[in-house]
Amino acid sequence: MNRTLYNHLIFEYSRKGRRGFTLPRRDDAAGSIEAAIPAATRREASPELPEVDEPTVVRHYTNMSTNNFGVDTGFYPLGSCTMKYNPKINEALASTSAVANLHPAQPFFTAQGALAAYWQLQRLLSEIGGMAEFTLNPYAGAHGELTGLMVIRAYHADRGDSARTKVIVPDSAHGTNPASAAVAGLEVVEVHSRPDGTVDLDDLKDKLDETVAAVMLTNPNTTGMFERNIPEIAETVHAAGALLYYDGANLNPMLGIARPGDMGFDVMHINLHKTFSTPHGGGGPGAGPVGVRHGLESYLPTPRVVRDNNGYYTVSEQSNSSLGRISSWLGNYTVLRRALAYILSLGKENIVNVGPLATLSANYIMHSLCDLYELPIPGPCKHEFVFDGLKDKSSGVTTLNIAKRLLDKGFHAPTIYFPLLFHESLMIEPTETESRDTLDAFILAMRQIAEEAKNNPDELKQAPHHTPMAKPDETEAAMHPRLTWKDLTS
Ligand SMILES: *Cc1c(COP(=O)(O)O)cnc(C)c1O
Repeated sequence: MNRTLYNHLIFEYSRKGRRGFTLPRRDDAAGSIEAAIPAATRREASPELPEVDEPTVVRHYTNMSTNNFGVDTGFYPLGSCTMKYNPKINEALASTSAVANLHPAQPFFTAQGALAAYWQLQRLLSEIGGMAEFTLNPYAGAHGELTGLMVIRAYHADRGDSARTKVIVPDSAHGTNPASAAVAGLEVVEVHSRPDGTVDLDDLKDKLDETVAAVMLTNPNTTGMFERNIPEIAETVHAAGALLYYDGANLNPMLGIARPGDMGFDVMHINLHKTFSTPHGGGGPGAGPVGVRHGLESYLPTPRVVRDNNGYYTVSEQSNSSLGRISSWLGNYTVLRRALAYILSLGKENIVNVGPLATLSANYIMHSLCDLYELPIPGPCKHEFVFDGLKDKSSGVTTLNIAKRLLDKGFHAPTIYFPLLFHESLMIEPTETESRDTLDAFILAMRQIAEEAKNNPDELKQAPHHTPMAKPDETEAAMHPRLTWKDLTS
């Protein structure tokens, strides 16, 4: 297939007088489109739209739809992001007309099933997290972090403790942790990691005092290491009067096996669009429910779905100490329905297999490649691990080169240059949904790349060679995105 022929912008195919045809719209009872638009707001001249024939339009959009890499097109071992396969049954259940046609303002008595599902997910997540109560309102992990930190602020304020203005975050933390703390109006203090990737407890003790509102931890952390000292950390944090926050974006390896609430965490968020199998990427819709331990429920945001003694569901806006609204309505409802479908289709019996399988996959890849790639923190790891580039760096081949070459071989690249603890970080998370064949194919590709680095480094440094686009200027694209078409030739 000649993809490049159809890889331009639709405007670039425009030729004066080219046409596609459809049947004209029937003027129905509501009248024609012209009649429906008030004269004052109608265009005087035709808009400048591309003039193209039907096959060109079909090929253009069909090609565009396959230019993106996704979990449904290939292996996507993006560390920290948990890009697992999303079973299609979740999609089917979330897109039935009963769900898709709901209106958030419809009377409660007409939406009892929808509210029951919502309430059930609140209960299931509380059980999975070991928390007293959950809100499903936040739209993303970062939004959950902000909500959780606002809960913590409200708790301290309620006790008249206004001196707590700092949040302690490890140097291995995801970038959203310090960002959320800053948005919540709190000052960020960094705590160091030890060489094995876990939190340096002595450094933490030095930094804990009566000005600290919370300590945010990810467990297993972003290097894939489980924080074994978590009971002692929790005790130390609580003794200093601060609360312990759990970044649950890495909950996948612990599902049904260990619970943040039992480890001593007070507040947590979950990324439904990672662990609970909602498709994500490109900033697409997500959900970052927030759970709290007993004693903090009243600070959670409103509205909340509540059930009365007769089993009747309503949406409550009432609470004296609540944060109030952090979202419109009740959050991303269809994302919540996918997560509920995922949890119920696995059931209590099978959800405990997710973590061990994800952990097995990660350790399998790690062991199969650690003779060629630098492993700064020796295993075993949990669901993900970090290589610090190639072991033999004499060819000058970087992590970026390896990532680009993987694209040529049909794999999405792992997370690169994060965590910042190492210079050439390559963070691999295979998840539990990949077959042994897929893992072996990835291992083979990574071994071939190490071989190419030795024998043909210059070509490797020019990768990718086979993708629709070679090397976009990512900074330019982020700083000055071109969002509208301009004819640069005239
Ligand atoms: C993805 C992630 C987040 C942020 O979640 P978003 O939904 O992208 O805002 C926070 N912490 C960790 C460890 C993550 O992997």
